[in-house]
Amino acid sequence: MKKQRICIVGDGLSGLITTLALNKLDGLEVHLISKKNKLLKDKRTTAISASNFDFLNSVVDKLDKKLFWPSNKINLFYEAKDQNMNFLNFNEDKKNLMYIFENDKVKENLLKKIKKKKIKTLQKNINNLKDLKGYDMIILCLGRSSKIYQNIIDKRSLDKDYKEVAITGYIKHNLKNLNTAQYFLKDGPLAILPFSKNSFSYVWSLNKDFPKKNINAVVKSKICELLKTKNIKISNQQSYPLMLNLKRTYYKKDILILGEGLHTVHPVAGQGFNLVLRDINKLQEILKYYTGLGMSLKSCPALEDFTNNRKAENIITGLGIDLTHHFFKQNKLLDPFKESILKNVSKNNTLKKISKFISNQGLSI
Ligand SMILES: Cc1cc2nc3c(=O)[nH]c(=O)nc-3n(C[C@H](O)[C@H](O)[C@H](O)COP(=O)(O)OP(=O)(O)OC[C@H]3O[C@@H](n4cnc5c(N)ncnc54)[C@H](O)[C@@H]3O)c2cc1C
Repeated sequence: MKKQRICIVGDGLSGLITTLALNKLDGLEVHLISKKNKLLKDKRTTAISASNFDFLNSVVDKLDKKLFWPSNKINLFYEAKDQNMNFLNFNEDKKNLMYIFENDKVKENLLKKIKKKKIKTLQKNINNLKDLKGYDMIILCLGRSSKIYQNIIDKRSLDKDYKEVAITGYIKHNLKNLNTAQYFLKDGPLAILPFSKNSFSYVWSLNKDFPKKNINAVVKSKICELLKTKNIKISNQQSYPLMLNLKRTYYKKDILILGEGLHTVHPVAGQGFNLVLRDINKLQEILKYYTGLGMSLKSCPALEDFTNNRKAENIITGLGIDLTHHFFKQNKLLDPFKESILKNVSKNNTLKKISKFISNQGLSI
């Protein structure tokens, strides 16, 4: 029987993993289209949950585990009046809570796997959907904003400009047993994400008008103060404007948006790509079902099923993250009560269990 052809456009993390996930299905021929001449390297790290790591492991043959740094302790701090209050900590002895990887290294590795599997890859800039002919399904993984999406979505997506930027970078250190941490500071949330014995990355979300002069020195001094060390070295600093965008329309005919284009969320909870991985997992499951029945991708309700399965979780999580971010932002009325609210959070074991479960598995049970 002739294979049905799927084209994936965009070779970010979403496009690469979708390519490998769908290539596992019988009866499909997958093509990957990537942009020519990309200049900027993605010098960020990404934290994914243990269940998403398992999914990745199932999709990528012989996953190079050395690229994924496990973490079994996560501490959350709130910058109170005279000290940083550790209001929540997750601590596992026997299993890992998350894995942190360097985006550019994993992308390079996934591309090698794609080439090894002889999946057809093409280099061209797609400016118009008319450039993509002869496919049974098209999956657009073009990142957070692409003009091409306007041909698919209606205008009803949820949008918000946080008027913030995330400053990211890598740090070399010689601290012992550094754990993953999130500091809710007055200037904005700062995450510490260890990805090797002596390196971690940071993500510090700051107001757009935060003075950028000597930002390297400001970051260095803040991190030295938090970790009580003098000996760190910063590299690879980058910055990302922050916004919320939650699409309500996911597809048109046989063209689907996937990845950050479906949901761009604030990085404070490290959940953006975790949602993407759950989307890819569900898409793989749905396409396996319909192709297994011998149905044509053009006429089966796969993309409708995908939307019905994933939209609620994506929107609720995006709004939940927005609410969390809002709670920790400076607020004259709420600030006097935050310490006591957070003290109660730290005593509440049920809440702790629920948040651990949701960050690992998402909302779909
Ligand atoms: C500071 C920061 C930290 C984050 N940390 C975490 C975290 O710890 N955990 C987590 O779960 N999530 C995190 N996220 C979210 C995560 O980074 C994103 O979900 C993920 O990178 C999205 O990848 P993507 O492939 O969808 O998009 P992108 O990485 O933007 O990839 C889009 C691709 O499409 C290609 N492209 C674009 N236009 C065209 C075209 N016309 N033709 C052909 N190709 C095209 C581009 O070249 C690019 O390769 C973070 C986000 C930020 C901003």
